[in-house]
Amino acid sequence: MHTVQWRGSAIAPSKIVCAGQNFVAHIEELGHEIPDEPVFFIKPNSAIGGELVAGDGEAHHYESEIVFLIEAGKLAGVGFGLDLTRRELQSRLKSKGLPWERAKCFDGAGLYSEFVPFDGDTSALWVQLKIDGRLVQKGGCDLMINPPPKLLAEAKSFLSFEDGDLLMTGTPAGVGPVPPGALFEGSVWQAQRCLVEVAWTAR
Ligand code: ZN
Repeated sequence: MHTVQWRGSAIAPSKIVCAGQNFVAHIEELGHEIPDEPVFFIKPNSAIGGELVAGDGEAHHYESEIVFLIEAGKLAGVGFGLDLTRRELQSRLKSKGLPWERAKCFDGAGLYSEFVPFDGDTSALWVQLKIDGRLVQKGGCDLMINPPPKLLAEAKSFLSFEDGDLLMTGTPAGVGPVPPGALFEGSVWQAQRCLVEVAWTAR
């Protein structure tokens, strides 16, 4: 099983529960309508990757997200994640009403920083992504259609979280293709304090 780092040890999430279309500005950039209820999909453990791969036939698109590690059914830890997406393929599948797994669940489609404890207050959390030093994505829980406690409760209405499972909360505007060789620097902040940061170089 693939693992993430939590309080200094490696743990293997049984699944990654992902929210889609949770920021209005991102929904608009994809030309979609605001959904009536939270949209969820799941990445399997096998999607957890160790390196940032720019593409494989089709360019991977990055989505930077605030990610929570769940323990005892609660938002116990927070980290930075990249939800890598084969956007053209996803669009083709969506247009035919087909599932997205080929576009969202491939090996290496989820990259994560370490996870760190936080005080449980999600209201002032925000995420940012810089590519080669340029700020490309920035957004906080205050801009989410469904903030993290609501996402957690909604997901729990139809599935159970095992300890160590991850919850991805959707991406702000500014998604795009991963340029080969680019330096990605992601971080999650609480108000003015950086809680966790990570860097990958795309290959
Ligand atoms: Zn996403």
